[in-house]
Amino acid sequence: MEWQWSSPTRIFFGRSCLTPNSGYLNLGRKAFIVTGQGGSARRNGALQDVVRALRSLGIEFFVYDQVKSNPALADMRAAASIARLQTADFVVGIGGGSSLDAAKAIAVLAVSEVDDIELFNGHFAGALPVAALPTTAGTGSEVTPYSILTYPAINTKKSIFSPLLFPRVAYLDPAYTYALPHEVTIDTAVDAFAHGFESLLSVRSSPLSALHSREALYLLGRLLTKMSRSGSDPDQEERSQMLYASMLAGLAISHTGTSIPHALGYSFTYFKGIPHGRATGYVLGPYARFLDKREKARVQEALHLAGFSTMADFFCTINKLTGPPPPLTPEENAAFLEICSRAKNLANSIASPAPCELEYILNQVQSESH
Ligand code: NAP
Ligand code: FE
Repeated sequence: MEWQWSSPTRIFFGRSCLTPNSGYLNLGRKAFIVTGQGGSARRNGALQDVVRALRSLGIEFFVYDQVKSNPALADMRAAASIARLQTADFVVGIGGGSSLDAAKAIAVLAVSEVDDIELFNGHFAGALPVAALPTTAGTGSEVTPYSILTYPAINTKKSIFSPLLFPRVAYLDPAYTYALPHEVTIDTAVDAFAHGFESLLSVRSSPLSALHSREALYLLGRLLTKMSRSGSDPDQEERSQMLYASMLAGLAISHTGTSIPHALGYSFTYFKGIPHGRATGYVLGPYARFLDKREKARVQEALHLAGFSTMADFFCTINKLTGPPPPLTPEENAAFLEICSRAKNLANSIASPAPCELEYILNQVQSESH
């Protein structure tokens, strides 16, 4: 058994954790603050907290508040040129995975003249330091070395991977997530669960990544079941647990990557506009059923850890949360399969599906039994 582990992000967790630890935000002379275009970073107080901390440190800043969900590479190049014009020497990402991934991409593109291929291959020599403040409990991007961008050249989303993308510091304040809309709460919690599930059932899983995956599944499985049964939002303590669990799952995928639910889910986002976590959630049940035929013991362990007594129980809980997927035309169906078959993360699954099995998984996603 051989494995390695490196998670260099300094993590602060807890309500109001930024203020007493703001010294770690001292990463340069001028901060490029990156937030979403919907303005949630202002409403939940995170932006004000960062601005106050930077002012107390005597650090200049510029606010770039134009990130769209599932950020596109072209927009990141444009944002990076603003960061250069502003002579920013570090980046602070505030928001969901979209803003955090945007912050990481901007951090690279602000200092590296790379073409698209070099960027996606991780062939760049530097990146500005990044601080991350997650305001959703889902992606774990605050602790991962990935930035996932929409890339129209190949009709899908593609990830940049480099150890240079690990944020230097992450402040996880659960209070920022208290007013997350119901739908975003569900989508992001399902995403975090998928990270735990896919990482535990990855060929790249190690004892240490599995430790993180298992704890994430234990916490998130119960939270998802409760949300699915009650139809209500988590309370503050549960939101805190969700943020913690999504970070654990992020640490796990930092080392294992994701696999088939993410690879196939990207097309539901790219072509049908479905939010990332929900898109991934559509595939979770059919993927678990496929894997159960090949690796029963491992799948059953994951489901039981998460508190699901049967496969049907798992299906029912996830489906109730995600709702039915949109219908696909035969052409879309073919495009989804073709794009997925080229995804790098397909190879991470402990059992890799033959083309006909992948087709079967996608059919299951859309079938009546779903
Ligand atoms: P998101 O796209 O970042 O945010 C979804 C929506 O929630 C946006 O409208 C956002 O509005 C809003 N929002 C965020 N925080 C809020 C808050 N506290 N209160 C109210 N509204 C809030 O969604 P996400 O699921 O967190 O991130 C998805 C992205 O992350 C995808 O692109 C996915 O591929 C990527 N991802 C990355 C990793 C990684 O390791 N890097 C892992 C998994 C997924 P604003 O416009 O105001 O921000
Ligand atoms: Fe994800």
